[in-house]
Amino acid sequence: MNDFDPRTNDLHQNSFVFDAHCDTLGHATAHPFSRRDLLQWGQRGHLDLPRMRAGGINAQIFACFPGVERLSANATSGALQRVEALYDLIDKAPAQITLVQTADELARLTPDGPIGAILGLEGVEALDGQMRLLRTFHRLGVRNIGLTWDRRNAAADGLGADTAFGLTPFGRELVQACNELGVMVDVSHLNDAGLEDVLAISNKPIIASHSNASAVFDHRRNLSDEQIRAIADRGGVIGATFVSHFLTANFREATLDDLLDHIDHLVDVGGVDHVGIGSDFDGSLPPPRLDSGEKYPAVTAGLLRRGHTFEDIRKILGENLRRVFLEVLS
Ligand SMILES: [Zn+2]
Repeated sequence: MNDFDPRTNDLHQNSFVFDAHCDTLGHATAHPFSRRDLLQWGQRGHLDLPRMRAGGINAQIFACFPGVERLSANATSGALQRVEALYDLIDKAPAQITLVQTADELARLTPDGPIGAILGLEGVEALDGQMRLLRTFHRLGVRNIGLTWDRRNAAADGLGADTAFGLTPFGRELVQACNELGVMVDVSHLNDAGLEDVLAISNKPIIASHSNASAVFDHRRNLSDEQIRAIADRGGVIGATFVSHFLTANFREATLDDLLDHIDHLVDVGGVDHVGIGSDFDGSLPPPRLDSGEKYPAVTAGLLRRGHTFEDIRKILGENLRRVFLEVLS
């Protein structure tokens, strides 16, 4: 049993918790020396199947980030290794985790059934500039596409690129193809001009899977109020993230309350129907007390403490993300 009070546990367990971003697959494909068995509890890092279950996670987007060292070469192989790592996990524990590719499969997930896994690309380096490979990754189950990581790629400029252009012709075509195929477009890591272009082109809701609010803490990875409103206006969702560096200037002392400040601001500006969670577990440094999957109910406890209603907390924990994915996957 965990340390949370019965009211928190009850609400958390009866909520559909949908986390929009983790980098856990990278740790299942690492060098054998540091590789983690995701069937085992707590072999370093933040997430594995036992800790996801203990944290009440019902659906999870697993990013297939090829790894920084593979971005400029072998990105396709890096992403495919992560796809294979998820397939391998599902083969080993089919009663505990299942691949979600359709709206029906998402709708059928239950709080006590297998965790729904959605594959995502973080940056489109793996497509190697070829639209046909979007089809290939779609056939493999990819249903969320983050157009960029921090670098420049064939689709757009990430936030850390030397240039700050909007989408390339390939990037524009990609957004349209995602709309047609039923793949979510994810704008976390994308620069301002690119986000503006996506908002102009996409005819489906979009998400920012792991980004916070720049009005609370001004970091390049966070969203302005205008961007928050624009994503919300199109029916999309912003996944508040646990990344300490995006929470507060004093990242070493980031707390749960810093995260709650961002969530409250996202709710105030975008509306409670447009806020979710994207932990970035295994991809970043989360604050203490949120530093591994089984501690997820701390978010529920914090939202309760701040006076959010049960209904609003359920929306933030996952109902909002479920709604946009049901719409885009249909
Ligand atoms: Zn990221």
